[in-house]
Amino acid sequence: MIKWLLTIAIVVIALMLWFGKGRGGGASPGGARRRPPGPQPMVSCAHCGLHLPQPDAVEGEGGRHYCSAEHRRLGPR
Ligand SMILES: [Zn+2]
Repeated sequence: MIKWLLTIAIVVIALMLWFGKGRGGGASPGGARRRPPGPQPMVSCAHCGLHLPQPDAVEGEGGRHYCSAEHRRLGPR
């Protein structure tokens, strides 16, 4: 009787691991879907070096990019 219970427990654990893996594999495309598709040009803030998508960046003088108006005001470091 205990042997059977152990066998069932092992099978259940194996199935849980299997389905857990399957769910983990299915989650990554969902995570990728959250990001906008297509390549987004990345720029780095001239002040703090933070990388951000170009549409979100604040453009400064000399073609520089900044993460915020505050850093544009502070200028390149
Ligand atoms: Zn910055």
